Amino acid sequence: MSKPGEKREFKTELKQLLHLITHSLYSNREIFLRELISNASDAINKIKFNSLDKDEILEGNKDWKIQIVPDKDKKTLTIIDNGIGMSHDDVIENLGTIAKSGTKAFLERLNQEKAQAKPELIGQFGVGFYSAFMVADKVTVRTRAAGPNAEAVKWESDGQGDYLIESTEKADRGTEITLHLKEEAEEFLDRYKLRTLVRKFSDFVEYPIVMEVEHFDEKGNKELKPETLNSQKAIWLRPKSEITLEEYQTFYQQISNDYEKPAKVIHYTAEGRTEFRVLMFIPAKKPFNFDWEEPKGLRLYIQRVLIMETCDGLLPGYLRFVRGVVDSADLPLNISRELLQHNPMLEKIQKNVVSNIFDELNSLRTNEAEVYRSFFNEFGDHLKRGIGDDRTNREKLADLLLVQSMNTPKENVITLADYVEKMPANQESIYYLIGESRSLIEHSPLLEKFRADGFDVLFLVDPIDEYAFPSLGEYKGKKLQAIDRVPASKENETHPQEENFKDLIQLLKEKITDVGDIKLSNRLKESASCLVADANAMTAHYERLMQRMGRLDGSEGKRTLEINPDHPIVQKLKTIHQQNPADPLLELFGNLLYEQAVIAEGSKIKDPAGFSKRINDLIARA
Ligand code: ADP
Ligand code: MG
Repeated sequence: MSKPGEKREFKTELKQLLHLITHSLYSNREIFLRELISNASDAINKIKFNSLDKDEILEGNKDWKIQIVPDKDKKTLTIIDNGIGMSHDDVIENLGTIAKSGTKAFLERLNQEKAQAKPELIGQFGVGFYSAFMVADKVTVRTRAAGPNAEAVKWESDGQGDYLIESTEKADRGTEITLHLKEEAEEFLDRYKLRTLVRKFSDFVEYPIVMEVEHFDEKGNKELKPETLNSQKAIWLRPKSEITLEEYQTFYQQISNDYEKPAKVIHYTAEGRTEFRVLMFIPAKKPFNFDWEEPKGLRLYIQRVLIMETCDGLLPGYLRFVRGVVDSADLPLNISRELLQHNPMLEKIQKNVVSNIFDELNSLRTNEAEVYRSFFNEFGDHLKRGIGDDRTNREKLADLLLVQSMNTPKENVITLADYVEKMPANQESIYYLIGESRSLIEHSPLLEKFRADGFDVLFLVDPIDEYAFPSLGEYKGKKLQAIDRVPASKENETHPQEENFKDLIQLLKEKITDVGDIKLSNRLKESASCLVADANAMTAHYERLMQRMGRLDGSEGKRTLEINPDHPIVQKLKTIHQQNPADPLLELFGNLLYEQAVIAEGSKIKDPAGFSKRINDLIARA
């Protein structure tokens, strides 16, 4: 079934992107070659995976190869692969109509950086293909997917606003991309230049990148012979001492698409009952669009054969930011991937890999504090997620946390170990307060008692802290205690002045309906009132989070209002109550005490109109 040729328009954002690429990017143009080779290599990986348990789809075509063909007469450069190829629909989806999320992000980045725009970032945003238009004024793609009936497709565009798509003839599976080079880009026809570029950017690509180069035979006649340009060296198998930092970085960039330098390189051989080689990288920056759904895992090789691009059995989810390779000599080569996923050896490897990552992060923390801090800013939330998810490594993950605290200047951070070390002998627990920002919680009335006692309080301002810290429970044998929560053990404690205030409290409970309970406080020094949660109720911060997500239905427990019996306002209330329990001032003051506490903890009061009316009443009486 052949389709007639058809002109289609690029999506608006792609048009803008292409315009910028063709008109503004002049530096580093040579990266187009790396991007096209990387796509070719991805395409071969894909068909290889698909064929693992059904070899027949390869139709015998598995002499994996990426060819580079410069043609000086036609002024074209062609990159050919025998990878997975694309169907008609694939081509439309991948090379034109779908506005990928990366397109917009890359555009913004280009606009921001204007003249210094870095074309080398293009691969990171998932739009590397279009870098071809930096050097070509026309690009022709001919491609055919696997299968005897697959129809070949031709795609062609000058990168202006539209592209042509039509059926074509192509004998072999795979993709052939022809760049009609711009006049000022003819240097990319030069074989020497091409060889240099491949060695520089694509040396570790695991498939041979082949180009015909000129040779002279004994008689001095020129002939063309294929030459493999890249070494295809499995860098992870080489001795550490022989690998330069630059080689590590080049390899990292190749497997991660991240053109920043990694924060840490981890390279070792695990020996013991099973032997495997590991090369991992801790990125310095979160990749664009990185989230919890990002595929996790390391590349799994068995005796140098790539078995899985991302083997998720090798890493726990919370370490999904780690990139790298595991090469095992002991895993069976010829079993299906499904069976492999359940091989107990994977779990052993994971354990080893995780513990090495922890060790390296710890050494980074102690030896390169600045690098670690910026790593933690990027990926700390993932480690915290791990505290909730991975019981067995909880304490080790907790060692890696950096936190703010009341007694630490706001530009500094400490570890939990630092905190514990400084605890006075009479301090039992590790205290923390969770909130949206330091400035919102640092004046909380809840801190007054801790300040007076000389106990430090951790300030936790990352949304995920609400998940991580309660899960942690304790650290170095010390209980973690949220200071806006009454621990179960103290719930029934009574205050020495309880009896004196019993009647007033009874009346306030009738007048202030939004609180679950009212009690005298032990924790306040200067303030008149504060709110705390009981052991099971939601804390203020958690309640705010749920509110924002629309998850509150009114059934949640109400918090306790604590009032300070030594505060003049509370004493005044007591006097008024003694003189006349029916005085309407009691209700007015009582509600203001509550609303004050709500504001002090950084929450919103439910009835702002009522609140301002009460304030006005108060002013009118003054
Ligand atoms: P990315 O590689 O990050 O996905 P690109 O812009 O480089 O972004 O490529 C877009 C898509 O086009 C690829 O994801 C792939 O589906 C398809 N593609 C590009 N080159 C090839 C190729 N040589 N063979 C098969 N598919 C390709
Ligand atoms: Mg790509």
